[in-house]
Amino acid sequence: MICKDIGPPDAKIILIGEAPGANEDRTGIPFSGGAGALLKQMLSHVGISFKDCFVTNIMNVRPPSNKFEYFYEGKLPGASLETAIIKLRDKIENIRPQVIIPLGNEALKAVCNKDKITSYRGTWLSFRDIPVLPTYHPAYVLRQYQSHVVVEMDLAKAVSGKIKPMPQMILQPTAHDVLNWIETVWLVNNKRSVVRNRISYDIETVGKHVRCIAFADGVHRPICIPFIRFKSSGLAKVGSTRVMLSTSESAGSYWSVQDEVRVIDAIQRLFDSGIEIVGQNSICFDAPLLQDEFGICIKEHYMDTMHAWHCLYSELPMGLSFLCSVLTDYANYWTGKVTSDDMSEWKYNVMDAVVTLEVSYKIDSELKGANFEHAYI
Ligand code: URA
Repeated sequence: MICKDIGPPDAKIILIGEAPGANEDRTGIPFSGGAGALLKQMLSHVGISFKDCFVTNIMNVRPPSNKFEYFYEGKLPGASLETAIIKLRDKIENIRPQVIIPLGNEALKAVCNKDKITSYRGTWLSFRDIPVLPTYHPAYVLRQYQSHVVVEMDLAKAVSGKIKPMPQMILQPTAHDVLNWIETVWLVNNKRSVVRNRISYDIETVGKHVRCIAFADGVHRPICIPFIRFKSSGLAKVGSTRVMLSTSESAGSYWSVQDEVRVIDAIQRLFDSGIEIVGQNSICFDAPLLQDEFGICIKEHYMDTMHAWHCLYSELPMGLSFLCSVLTDYANYWTGKVTSDDMSEWKYNVMDAVVTLEVSYKIDSELKGANFEHAYI
């Protein structure tokens, strides 16, 4: 049986599935089987009524053995799928809801032309200026039940959040920019000051070398301080690792020797200023590398966000991209990073610092809310 669409035509939320399964084939109603029951339950846990949503599928007929690949010809959509995608997009355009929630990879592809639901779930995208917040398909949640928590977080974000633009950042600074930035932050945070602020830092590496370091304090524009400048041809991929080809020809120091010394001294002063220092996996990764390469010593971290998050939610992923997806409204800035391009790397570096700072405050309040801060901080 053909499966129809349900829900108000002026709904604020559109839920998009793939295609009817056995139950939907019988009833003609989307999400009327087991996956649907779970979907309704997850929606209600975050205060969304299934009845208030417009619910549709990419295809309105069931593929043999529920295999969506049936609608493909090789890697490309077959004619019926192509037509269905165009119809689906027109339907969305007519409704213009407040948010579109694609359920699973096929729906993500059909609406946004993006692949990999694992990379994009929980992060804001847009379709013709309508916000899109993809999440896992409920049939996947039935198989991987621990992921229901993540889907509920995504659904809650879909109705309460709103995409946050990337901040203005300082890239390609002069030595004067760096010293000025550090001096300004230092002045409000030096040990004699009553104000205690927080700063996040993050490094990017190439091989075992520190390529750049970024800082964010939430007040001033975040900054990336490069150390190595690359010609893009100077990086090669060996297996899954980027390596420098010939350092002398392909890479050079960003700074003159004198400026590098001044910049490193200033960074050390910043770390010594008494400011709260946070990083993501920085205690075991970033800090030792800064010590080895530049002799920079970070005496104390206020928080390593990865460790603190793991204290709170030991069963959830703890990478920064996951934290960004569940604790912030920034779009996915990590998929498609071009390591061989300095500018792309510097922006990514700054965003990591910005996100680390923001999630550190959220984790702080969760630790305090759970009366848990003494277990970690
Ligand atoms: N799975 C879907 O993608 N859609 C339905 O309607 C039911 C199960």
